[in-house]
Amino acid sequence: MAGAELAGRPGLWYHRPMETLFVIGGGLAGCEAALQAAEAGVQVRLIEMKPARMSPAHHDPRLAELVCSNSLRNDQPSSAVGLLKLELEIMGSRLMAAARQSAVPAGKALAVDRGRFAELVDQQVRNHPRIKLIGQEAVAPPEDAPCILASGPLTDGALAQWLAQRAGAAHLHFYDAIAPIVTRESVDMDHAFWGDRWAEPGQGDYLNCPLDRQQWAAFYAALTAAENVALHDFESPRFFEGCLPIEVMAARGEQTLLFGPMKPVGLHRPGQPGRFHAVVQLRKEDAEGRLLNMVGFQTKLTHQSQLRVFRLIPALAHAEFARLGSIHRNSFVDAPRVLDAFMRLRTAPNVFVAGQLAGVEGYVESMAAGLLCGLNAARLLKGQQPLRPPATTALGGLLAHLANDQTKDFQPSNVNFGLLPPLGGKKIPKKDRGALLARRAMQDLLAWLGDQGLTPAKAAPPL
Ligand SMILES: Cc1cc2nc3c(=O)[nH]c(=O)nc-3n(C[C@H](O)[C@H](O)[C@H](O)COP(=O)(O)OP(=O)(O)OC[C@H]3O[C@@H](n4cnc5c(N)ncnc54)[C@H](O)[C@@H]3O)c2cc1C
Repeated sequence: MAGAELAGRPGLWYHRPMETLFVIGGGLAGCEAALQAAEAGVQVRLIEMKPARMSPAHHDPRLAELVCSNSLRNDQPSSAVGLLKLELEIMGSRLMAAARQSAVPAGKALAVDRGRFAELVDQQVRNHPRIKLIGQEAVAPPEDAPCILASGPLTDGALAQWLAQRAGAAHLHFYDAIAPIVTRESVDMDHAFWGDRWAEPGQGDYLNCPLDRQQWAAFYAALTAAENVALHDFESPRFFEGCLPIEVMAARGEQTLLFGPMKPVGLHRPGQPGRFHAVVQLRKEDAEGRLLNMVGFQTKLTHQSQLRVFRLIPALAHAEFARLGSIHRNSFVDAPRVLDAFMRLRTAPNVFVAGQLAGVEGYVESMAAGLLCGLNAARLLKGQQPLRPPATTALGGLLAHLANDQTKDFQPSNVNFGLLPPLGGKKIPKKDRGALLARRAMQDLLAWLGDQGLTPAKAAPPL
């Protein structure tokens, strides 16, 4: 059986077919989990505290809210997150289906109209005959009933206390930040041009805002001198490397930005062949492209500082900011020491932990964690062995990260090819590696599904 791994122990609440499954949190992981379990025939109660109580990042009363960017990142299977999306679709992800239906143009990425995406998922959950939505704040999972805890990275209050008690000192916290959004009509098109990186000049979905050397110097000086929002007493400045605030990157030196979010390479201004020194990319937030997100500009600068510094970018000199950047706390468990191989709390095996709270990072990864928890909770209730996809798949790679007890200071991770076992044989050029890893993952996933007697929800494209 190609790459297959099955449960060693079936679990404590094995085969209780009449049992109701509780899901706490109607975000990306919780909705995916609830829909998977309900589709498998299980009665589900989904507990969501919105709209009565909103976290600092949630504003939409609907379920499955994308709290920051509208991008689900690279959509090519030769990238790790592209592969993960493909695997999710093959596994029958309901949220990926909604993402496809609400997609907006975004070059090689998959971006969605967030309102339409939330609406599609919200309606699916509310109308599902086996899901009962309960509009309440949960303070703890039920003692003896099966439960999926998917309350997200901003879990707090009594529920956080319950988790801290169960997870002990290993329950950690850190911060990431939200990028500003500008209105498209306020961008000065004399200083901006459309184009995707490495695409034909003038073609693409990104609006690029270049800076020459002098403009860059003024911008950089202002950014590094700008004032930050003060942290609360309960916050400590531990930033997640994958989502560093722009000013923190700037403080590491000019090159960090010029080789990072402001890199000028691969972009050509139509009719103006000269190089520019730096560039800010704006990505569409909605289907019409009326709102544009400043890519990689997550920040904890004060609002006044943001307005002053970001308006030094020539194209944004008169920009209207539909939303300014901000900072947020982000909770996650020390998965390798707190969770078992199927993402259940070792100290409370009736509780799965799904989504960002489990120690994955990102929208797609949170959906993936929700899908696995939803499927496995349903399987255990039906007396079936839980599933663990092959280690060579992106799904398996994420699980491997959560189980990696070699890491002393466990941190959440986006999916990446480093989580998968390397390809055997002779050294493979970097440019070919993604495609080969994706091909291997697809072969192993399909063989494994066949071995489990499961049918792919979608045909795998030729890779
Ligand atoms: C500020 C911020 C910005 C982010 N930006 C991005 C980004 O741009 N791209 C990206 O890929 N990832 C981003 N992430 C990371 C991550 O992908 C998202 O947080 C994602 O939404 C996580 O999905 P989730 O299902 O785990 O949690 P959520 O989507 O947050 O869902 C949790 C749900 O549980 C509910 N809830 C919480 N507590 C309770 C309770 N006690 N009782 C009942 N309901 C409760 C909440 O209201 C919410 O609806 C960001 C995270 C944060 C905090």
